Amino acid sequence: MEKEKIKELVSKMTLEEKAGLCSGKDFWNTKDVKRLGIPSIMLSDGPHGLRKQEKEGDHLGVGESVEAVCFPAGCLTGASFDEELLYELGETLGNECQAENIGVLLGPAMNIKRSPLCGRNFEYYSEDPCVSSKLAASYIKGVQSKHIGTSPKHFLGNNQEHRRMTSSSNIDERTLREIYLASFETAVKEAKPWTIMASYNAVNHVYASEHRENLTDVLRNEWEFDGFVVSDWGAVNHRVEGLFAGLDLEMPGSKGVNDKKIMEAVKSKQLNESVLDNACERILDVVFRYWENRNEKAVYSKEKDHKIAKRIAEESVVLLKNEGILPLTKDKKIAVIGEYAKSPRYQGGGSSHINAYSVVSFMDKISDESVFYAKGYCDADETTDETLIQEAVEISADADVAVLFVGLPERYESEGFDRLNMKLPANQTALIDAVCGVQKNVVVVLHNGSPVEMPWEKKVKGILECYLAGEAVGEVQYDILFGNTNPSGKLAETFPIRLEDNPTYLTYGLDKDDVDYKEGIFVGYRYYDGKNMNVLYPFGHGLSYTEFSYSDLEISKNKMKDTESVDVSFLVKNEGTVFGKEVVQLYVSSNDRNMIRPQKELKRFKKISLNPGEQKRITFTLKKRDFAYWNVDIHDWHVLTGEYFVCIGASSRDIRLESSINVESTTSIPLKITLDTPFGDIFSNPKTMEKAKKMFSESLNMEENKPSDNSDKNVMSPEMIEAMLQYMPVRSFIGFMGIPEDKVEDMVSYLNDVE
Ligand code: BGC
Repeated sequence: MEKEKIKELVSKMTLEEKAGLCSGKDFWNTKDVKRLGIPSIMLSDGPHGLRKQEKEGDHLGVGESVEAVCFPAGCLTGASFDEELLYELGETLGNECQAENIGVLLGPAMNIKRSPLCGRNFEYYSEDPCVSSKLAASYIKGVQSKHIGTSPKHFLGNNQEHRRMTSSSNIDERTLREIYLASFETAVKEAKPWTIMASYNAVNHVYASEHRENLTDVLRNEWEFDGFVVSDWGAVNHRVEGLFAGLDLEMPGSKGVNDKKIMEAVKSKQLNESVLDNACERILDVVFRYWENRNEKAVYSKEKDHKIAKRIAEESVVLLKNEGILPLTKDKKIAVIGEYAKSPRYQGGGSSHINAYSVVSFMDKISDESVFYAKGYCDADETTDETLIQEAVEISADADVAVLFVGLPERYESEGFDRLNMKLPANQTALIDAVCGVQKNVVVVLHNGSPVEMPWEKKVKGILECYLAGEAVGEVQYDILFGNTNPSGKLAETFPIRLEDNPTYLTYGLDKDDVDYKEGIFVGYRYYDGKNMNVLYPFGHGLSYTEFSYSDLEISKNKMKDTESVDVSFLVKNEGTVFGKEVVQLYVSSNDRNMIRPQKELKRFKKISLNPGEQKRITFTLKKRDFAYWNVDIHDWHVLTGEYFVCIGASSRDIRLESSINVESTTSIPLKITLDTPFGDIFSNPKTMEKAKKMFSESLNMEENKPSDNSDKNVMSPEMIEAMLQYMPVRSFIGFMGIPEDKVEDMVSYLNDVE
């Protein structure tokens, strides 16, 4: 509906109707206003399948929901690195929403994986904002192409489940911009989501749902978000402050309590009525975007969508290790071990929990072949059962290869609480050790929403990371293990060797409500790679049944201004005999030790398909933002003039090609020299360098005092003097050199007086 018409409609609403529109009618629906022809819309979880509740509602995944296709969770689709695939997932879900009369799908979930312990990592995409934001953008575009709204969540800093409703994520400005806001930024700017969900937690001590700086200044004013902001379910603390800050819709509602507060605030002039009008306009805009494009005829086939769920999982599963053991061949005697081969773990717990349409296990798929099966462990009871282990050992000893289906039980990771450690249950570890004792050909198939430690990693020959693969899990495992499908997923997060290696280890979950993000911008590989630390599997890692070679890196210029762009292109060739897909990754890195910076950062990625022997040229265009960091003095992105390396890799630790470019900044940081400024800062600043040198040598008479070649070698060289002066503030001229204070102040003004 046109903006003017919406405004007119709002002008006809009573104060009560307007306050009412800003909270839910029930658990899942907005309010209608029949006398004005305003319909309601349904919002529903999300993100990897519909959790449409027709009867009693709940936000914890406890109550019943309609049967729906369970697609792979974000932890797996993140590993696809495939924007087109995420678009297709979105499109499929959007169509299901049209058919089910759902107006807004509550997703994608796109918080950064700060610690492997976050109980909800299984819903999120990555530890890297570029991956997270790009994939989310595609998902959003896909859903919205069907005229269904999305709700990227949880904005902002909701990186743990521990005390999620009371904790404050204390994040410095640069880290917020480069990591946590960046994870949402591209998605909001490129895909224009209809809504966005404000999280439970506070950010720097202000609740996310009342955070005017984030909800209005950044989201609306800077990023031009034009939808409505909805609270996470129950995330409203102070309704009137929230409305003023930019939180439009409270869900599920407060049984009228908060509506009254809004009315009182307007009547007492505490809140300008225009704030309420704006919120209503934004809500109605989305309501009508849905109804005016309603497709009554939309239908979907669960069978067909199940196949899409399978394909999406297939394109995402990550082959972590393969010492010539995979793909399996049918002539081998295979011991299949583990309860998850029969009852797989394929989705996570909480609000995203789907009443799955048709779950297929590996054993369902393989039942017609001659394999030997042993349960090996019990998912529900963690005590090591020697009888179960013995059965597994016996069939393994007798087989050519043992395939172990293990992972994390649902109670280990979920929305609402965090994991306690990064280990598999003890009964599963004991099983792996026992089987490795009698069989040298072991493949481990993992089911988990977040990384696990693998003390047994060296003992096995193959590891397939399936994450939470959705309802087609068994079919996908079958096709990949037997080589019908060539795996092409790559890790969108680092697998550290042990939890202790993670930068948040010493504080995560121990902070009570003040959660200081002390590692700053060094999240995930930005930390591990910077420290050159051994990891189990690096960010971006994933194997294939074929090999890819990289060559012929071309960079369109070796020098540019930050207002220009540069094209980077290279060749990738499939050197093997089977069709395969490769995720190519472009990182930008800088050696500049004058500022705090990750060793390298992912800036572009692309998934490409290649037939055997086929070669393709890939081109990426880089711009200012790809070389920039967030400067807190100017509160903007800034490029430091200097040399940058463009690194093309198959993972963050497998860089195949590298080239460099000099980028020159065209914006300058305002300079403010005071008596406390160290000389080093003055000398290293291109603007003051020359002036300072001149001034300095005049004041110290350095030329005159220069030691002659035959003078005492103990006299300090000008270089030494310069090095020592680096950290001396200007004021030291007064004390150390006896230069009068007014003269030093004149020098400061002289230095500040530069263009
Ligand atoms: C979750 C959201 C979800 C909402 C509705 C909340 O507990 O954090 O992700 O969309 O419930 O179920």
